[in-house]
Amino acid sequence: MPQFTVSTDARLTVDDITDRVRDAVDDVAPGPGERVCTVFVEHTTAGVVVNEAESRLLGDVEAYLSQIVPNERWDHDAIDDNADAHLRTLFLGNSVQVPVVGGDLTLGSWQSVLLVECDGPRQRTVRVVV
Ligand code: ZN
Repeated sequence: MPQFTVSTDARLTVDDITDRVRDAVDDVAPGPGERVCTVFVEHTTAGVVVNEAESRLLGDVEAYLSQIVPNERWDHDAIDDNADAHLRTLFLGNSVQVPVVGGDLTLGSWQSVLLVECDGPRQRTVRVVV
């Protein structure tokens, strides 16, 4: 199963991982046929979504996630002080599925696969299953 690591550089960031997912799919499922690619992040404080990778929008996503889950005192903070990151990840999910046709992702013109870091900076593992 292909996997790769993403090094995030701030507490709350959005990284476009589309090219790395595409490379992983190409490694295991090149050529003709229809398949489904699952992109899975094995973390509880980072998520993965499909959306537009326009730089101002990515900043808006970071601002929106900060607004919907304010960084206040939560019960889980007594453990490792990152409850806000867990709660933000609830809205994102840990996986997305993208159809693969002819060895390539069938993303729309404005769609990208985005890793959303909610408790960085960290190293994140992304698994790709086709
Ligand atoms: Zn925690």
